[in-house]
Amino acid sequence: MTYICTSNQAADLAQSIQLNAVDYQESDLFNCRPSELRALAGKILGLQSIKWHYLFTEKQQKLEKSNKLGKELNIGMHLAPSNLSGKNTCPMASKGCRAACLNTSGKGRLSVTQIGRIKKTKLYFEHPFLFRALMINEIRAWQDKAEKQGLRLAVRLNTTSDIVWENKFPLLFEIFKNVQFYDYTKIAKRFEHPLPSNYHLTFSRSEENQNLVDRVISRKGNVAVVFQNIQNAMQTGYQGLRVINGVESDRRYADPAGVIVGLQALGNAKADRSGFVVPN
Ligand code: SF4
Repeated sequence: MTYICTSNQAADLAQSIQLNAVDYQESDLFNCRPSELRALAGKILGLQSIKWHYLFTEKQQKLEKSNKLGKELNIGMHLAPSNLSGKNTCPMASKGCRAACLNTSGKGRLSVTQIGRIKKTKLYFEHPFLFRALMINEIRAWQDKAEKQGLRLAVRLNTTSDIVWENKFPLLFEIFKNVQFYDYTKIAKRFEHPLPSNYHLTFSRSEENQNLVDRVISRKGNVAVVFQNIQNAMQTGYQGLRVINGVESDRRYADPAGVIVGLQALGNAKADRSGFVVPN
């Protein structure tokens, strides 16, 4: 990879693009050295630690479980869910899912992690061109890493958000044709238009969206459901459909079509009384 811009050029380019200078295009930023883009993002966000600038990680329980299988290299991006950053990244979030959200599991309990996610989310909303360039640069680096291991890269874009990436950044799926993208979503409309062939979605049930669950099932889409006891659910099925184990890995793109993806209530979700968790 040859980088065409370094040091202050990245900042100049970013400023020109933000000001809509006609001579520059967003794609020019894609070719800036990743360290320069991160430094620029860090400056804009007032971050002290460079670690906060990385958008993607492989360090999350379900991603790590998937990676142990040695089929793909799985990575995910954590933004601040719902309206925690002051802007809403989850338009269809329910009270129950907000309370049980993955956002506070694992390292998400640390305030430093929460601050980092909020700052990255602000970067997404306030400097989208820079955010997208960082995405491209980082995915490129992860793809190189995966290739060296003889693996395909699998990217979960919305680990703790529900952004409609196929509308917000369609170029991403074209640039990385060989990368498998995937997400869980509560936005049923996303199942009503063709998705990029390398983007897989699983609909996510909440206590408020039964009508949408029915709609997605009727279109042979897969639905993730959180159960108090996933083993029981796998034995009995749900709404007449087979329940598969969605806990063992995060490889949703490998699931058969038309199934319920069973998830086990963990952490705060164990005490759920909203109906978000199916009591069984
Ligand atoms: S929609 Fe998903 S990411 Fe957003 S608050 Fe609910 S569980 Fe969390």
